[in-house]
Amino acid sequence: MKRQPVIFIGHGNPMYAIEDNAFTRSLSELGAAVGKPRAVLCVSAHWMTEGSWLTHMKSPKTIHDFYGFPKELFDVRYPAPGSPETAELARASVPNPALQLDDELWGLDHGTWAVLRHMYPEADVPVVQLSIYLAQPAEYHLELGRKLRALRDQGVLIVGSGNIVHNLRTMRWEEGAKPYDWAVEFDAWVKDKLVRRDYEALAREAMASEAGKLSIPTPDHWYPLFYALGASDERDELRFTHESIDNGSISMRCLTLGEK
Ligand code: ZN
Repeated sequence: MKRQPVIFIGHGNPMYAIEDNAFTRSLSELGAAVGKPRAVLCVSAHWMTEGSWLTHMKSPKTIHDFYGFPKELFDVRYPAPGSPETAELARASVPNPALQLDDELWGLDHGTWAVLRHMYPEADVPVVQLSIYLAQPAEYHLELGRKLRALRDQGVLIVGSGNIVHNLRTMRWEEGAKPYDWAVEFDAWVKDKLVRRDYEALAREAMASEAGKLSIPTPDHWYPLFYALGASDERDELRFTHESIDNGSISMRCLTLGEK
C-alpha cells in the first residue's frame, strides 16, 4: 500500500467551502497530486473535547458549526462515508492515551468538509475525525501525531486543519486588508522552525513572544499542526502548498510532508 503524506491546511473562512480562489484551487491541486487514499484521518480545530475522540460512525453527518452565513453554505452536505475500521486501527495503534470512539455525537465539521470538498469533491474517500483534547499542551498533540505515524503505511492520509495565525477579534474586513506586523512575524517564525524541523521549539516557544500570543489567543486552531508534524519523519520533504494572510490576522499557510 502506498505510504501517504501528511498535510496541514489553514482552512480560514467557512465560505471558502463554496468559493473558487487561489486557496481553494491549491486544495484541488493537492487532492489530485496526492490521489485518493484508503481513508482520511482529519484533526479539525472545531472538535474540542475532554479526552481524544475518533468518529466511529458509518455515515458521519455534515455539521454546520457556524452562524450568520448564507443558506447556500448551510445547504452543503459532504456525504463521505465514515470508516469504523480506520478508527479502530487508529485506536489499536495508540495504546496510550486511550482514544475514545464516538458513534453518535459528532460527524464532519467544517474544518474537515470545507477542505475535503475541494480535495475530494466526489466525497468517495472514507473520513474519520480525531478531536482536539483542548486542555492538553502542544507536546501531547505532537506525541499523539507520532503514535499515529504508522497509519500512513496503511494508506491513511493524516490531515490537520486549523490556522497558524488565528485571531478573529482583530480581523480586518476591507478588501485586500494589510496583514498585521505581528501576524507576518509569527507566520514567518513558524515557517522558519518548520524548515529547520524544530518542532520542539514550536511546541515550547510559540507563546513566548507578543506576536505568538496575538496569533494564538486560543490554541484550538494551532494544535492540528502538531499532528501533521508528529506523524512526519526525516524521509519526508516539506512543501508549502499555499501561503497568504487573510483579513490581517488569519494565516492560510498550508503544507505537506511526504515522499520526495
Ligand atoms: Zn476554523
